Amino acid sequence: MKKIFITGGAGFIGSHMAQKFLELGHEVSILDDLSTGSINNIEHLKGNKSFSYRIDTIFNEPLLREMIDASDVIFHMAASVGVRLIITDPVNTMANNIHGTEIVLKYAALKGKRTFIASSSEVYGKGSRIPFSEEDDIILGPTSKGRWSYACSKAIDEFMGLAYFKEYKLPATSFRLFNTVGPRQTGRYGMVIPRFVSAALKNEPVTVYGDGTQSRCFINVADVVDACVKLIDADKSIGTVVNIGSSEEISILDLGRKVIEMTGSKSQIQFIPYDQAMEAGFEDMQRRVPDTTRLRGIIDFEPRYTLKDTLSQVIDSIRPTL
Ligand code: UDP
Repeated sequence: MKKIFITGGAGFIGSHMAQKFLELGHEVSILDDLSTGSINNIEHLKGNKSFSYRIDTIFNEPLLREMIDASDVIFHMAASVGVRLIITDPVNTMANNIHGTEIVLKYAALKGKRTFIASSSEVYGKGSRIPFSEEDDIILGPTSKGRWSYACSKAIDEFMGLAYFKEYKLPATSFRLFNTVGPRQTGRYGMVIPRFVSAALKNEPVTVYGDGTQSRCFINVADVVDACVKLIDADKSIGTVVNIGSSEEISILDLGRKVIEMTGSKSQIQFIPYDQAMEAGFEDMQRRVPDTTRLRGIIDFEPRYTLKDTLSQVIDSIRPTL
């Protein structure tokens, strides 16, 4: 039994993580300010004696320190996420993602706690060498394009994790998540699958940005959580950055068609230019495919869910809420 502390534990991924660690018999404490997370995500965990939660910001340093001190393993999931949010709230994105990680690492290092930092495939930026491998060069756009501030903030988080490992021997690992999806993900901050599913279930237009030829590999949140569970006992991951993702690739236009078909919807696909959907000059990534060689060298990893399985889960979870 370990004491697991999850920042952002009421968020989409953090809450699935909390649930899984509890199922495995661990003790879980979470800290979340509910800025993008939701109390509904942890409602079903509240009765569990091994679960505790605090609704507060990670910038409450005395509280953060106390919660870190009381834990064995830290998953730092609290962050501003979602391309839409990054564009509309750039100041908080950078403050949360850079300063937030800095203080988590500072207190974790005082006690040498096993620490995991959630990073993102966004870090690969405009890289075009497919699949994306951890040692690839990073190619970002100019600072005038807000989107890249997120990639940059996550890259700084990774640098900090590696620096704390090098200088203070902090057992830290950053994991780059590729398009993680599943029940409880909200479309409010731009994520494509909950947006498409909600639109299709309401027979409203399914809005494809650009020409829809851009593609992504979506991974079920349960597969991400399984990988994280295995990583806590995998010392080989200490002092590294590692991709977590699926290799099942689909274009966004095909995704829209699939969602319409699976929901039996009367929706039409509507193409919206990026300039209108996001902001003038918005740059999207054409393809994003993970190389999971490093991960497979550390843990036994094979995603259990296909995109079709995951879409069914998301459809079933959104349908009753409409
Ligand atoms: N997208 C879309 N319609 C939407 C939301 C997103 O066509 O309503 C596209 C978006 O431009 C991107 C892809 O779907 O090419 C995935 O977007 P998401 O924000 O889910 O993740 P990203 O890979 O951009 O981080």
